[in-house]
Amino acid sequence: MKKSLIASAVLFSSTAIANVEAPKNIIYMIGDGMGPAYTAGYRYYMDDPSTKVVEKTIFDELFVGMARTSPDDDTVVTDSAAGATALSTATKSYNGAIAVDTDKKPLTTMLQIAKSKGLTTALVATSQINHATPASFAAHNEYRRNYNEIADDYIDVKINGKLAVDLLLGGGYKYFIREDRDLVSEFKQAGYHYESDFDKLNTINSLPAIGLFKETAFAYAIDQYPTRLSDMAEQTFSLLDKNKENGFFVMLEGSQIDWCGHANDVACAMAEMDDFANAIKKAKHYVDSNPDTLLVVTADHSTGGLTLGANGDYSWHTNVIKGVKASGSKIAKALMKSDNLLSTWQDKTAITLDKDQAELLANKVITAKNEKSDETSAKKQLVEHVKMLISKASNTGWTTSGHTAIDVPILAYGKGADEFRGHLDNTEIASKLINFIKQ
Ligand code: MG
Ligand code: ZN
Repeated sequence: MKKSLIASAVLFSSTAIANVEAPKNIIYMIGDGMGPAYTAGYRYYMDDPSTKVVEKTIFDELFVGMARTSPDDDTVVTDSAAGATALSTATKSYNGAIAVDTDKKPLTTMLQIAKSKGLTTALVATSQINHATPASFAAHNEYRRNYNEIADDYIDVKINGKLAVDLLLGGGYKYFIREDRDLVSEFKQAGYHYESDFDKLNTINSLPAIGLFKETAFAYAIDQYPTRLSDMAEQTFSLLDKNKENGFFVMLEGSQIDWCGHANDVACAMAEMDDFANAIKKAKHYVDSNPDTLLVVTADHSTGGLTLGANGDYSWHTNVIKGVKASGSKIAKALMKSDNLLSTWQDKTAITLDKDQAELLANKVITAKNEKSDETSAKKQLVEHVKMLISKASNTGWTTSGHTAIDVPILAYGKGADEFRGHLDNTEIASKLINFIKQ
């Protein structure tokens, strides 16, 4: 542990940016769990089959390098808390840490530095806004699941006597409106506009503001709002544009790429990638009209060991994935409610089953239906079986329900983007951004 602390200190000092003029505004985007198989998979998923070439995606267009993601221990594999702490504070910590070091002492985040420099600040996520990634930009906690304490920090950790985040958009009102404390009232008292109805996102037209649109997280893009992150991104850039006299810093997270990866649900993952890609396009568009802005996109780690092609077969079938219309858990629910199993299966997946597969699926549905309401194992098995059929038909591979240590892509665009070229440690991405914010 001591060795890696010294190593990260050396990395930090070696990345000081000399003679590069800082951008005025910084847009930082994190695809949670978005390893290179996700960006490559999305390219094939989006390919126009009527042309011979595989078209580039926004991820290919803006690609500049790769980042290492290991946490500050000997496990090599990071979680989202240690990953986000590295990406927000330039310091490696332990898995579970929310912007605290290995001694559990608070680390100053780039958002807090931005606020102290007078920049307008914002956090946007499709998870609860106090989930590990956004939390590591504005809260300090020894453990990522202390959701109430993390939400409290959004009010209690003040910068020069002011709240640190001028705009918060995401889910999670159950952590903010509680019996012991009503943080939403406290935000209102501090002058914030509050909105909980996602259909009224566009009515948030001044800062400071907080939008908490779900009790916890948004539903998956594939099941409900396919454009919720890109819609929030658009509203965020319009609000920040009106508040950019001293520049702005915003972190937007594609939170649930990771969750689809944990679930080993490839159609779910591609729908999350599509929402994230559209949000990145909005950010790029903002940079095109505001060239004093820097856009940096990366991931905290990869999830699921996603593999495009599996079982020795040289193929990956994106047409199968495109035919899947819901997450594995929603498909399983629909099957349990259906009186015509095969037609519901066709409707939700467009995957043709042979006789044995159809019989096995029907049996699993009956077992799940007959399960007592206080039990879930047969229902869980049905969900897993549905996802296995989709993975099999598309020839998608998965090696784990957790994270992996593979390097992740770095994309950069706009003023200062060249600084992010090559192979970086995740702490170097943060230290370069912090150096810009401090200028
Ligand atoms: Mg996250
Ligand atoms: Zn994860």
